[in-house]
Amino acid sequence: MSRYGIISDIHGNAQALRAVYDRLGELEVDRIVCLGDIVGYGPSPTKCLDLVLSYCHEVVRGNHDEAVLDPDLGRYFNSAALMALNWTRDQLGAYHLHAISHMKTRIRLGDSLLLVHDTPVLHDSAYIHELPHAIEAFEGLNQGICLHGHTHLPTIFRSQPSGDVTLEVPVHGEPIVLNPEDRYLCNPGSVGQPRDGDARASYAVLDYTCPDAEAIFTLYRTEYDIKGAQSETHSVGLPSILAERLEMGC
Ligand code: ZN
Repeated sequence: MSRYGIISDIHGNAQALRAVYDRLGELEVDRIVCLGDIVGYGPSPTKCLDLVLSYCHEVVRGNHDEAVLDPDLGRYFNSAALMALNWTRDQLGAYHLHAISHMKTRIRLGDSLLLVHDTPVLHDSAYIHELPHAIEAFEGLNQGICLHGHTHLPTIFRSQPSGDVTLEVPVHGEPIVLNPEDRYLCNPGSVGQPRDGDARASYAVLDYTCPDAEAIFTLYRTEYDIKGAQSETHSVGLPSILAERLEMGC
């Protein structure tokens, strides 16, 4: 069996990322996978990139990471996100830009695990918030489990062979069994900018053996030094809304 730590949407929040790594160490994961958006919004893009590059075994590139490379994508961002994007780009040197440019946008682990940032549908970047979005997203997943981020909300969508698609919202510390006959879209929520009203950093552990066996997905939440992340956001001059929203979890 492999025990995967799953992190996503870190968004330059090094305080949250360090707290999550500490907890994943206690949970004795074998490998850590990162589902993208390492930078953007937050004040510590280089620290977060260094931590992800040294601790994560697999890393996919998110839309905020991509926008650092391609300024044109900033037109989809709101004004605070755009300011943070432009500030982030100024912080990164050739080493970090090179690392981002070499990240893949989808990674397959064996026959039944797929890692993406947003959706398993090729050349799409949709948000999987609700059942209609999930039904479309399952078009891109023939079998197994897709681990994704992007919405900053912990969710598990399940598609059964009967065609039924359902949503389960995972809660801290309660294991959810994933049946090998069904397909799943699993989102661990956001490490650095949760948006479900719970300010604690969000991440998950997946206990996985093989395509024919049950897997177990467990969500975790961890408190971290929000005040430290906020004061760093202010001190580098990023918009104050980006600091305030951290304590609200939105
Ligand atoms: Zn994000």
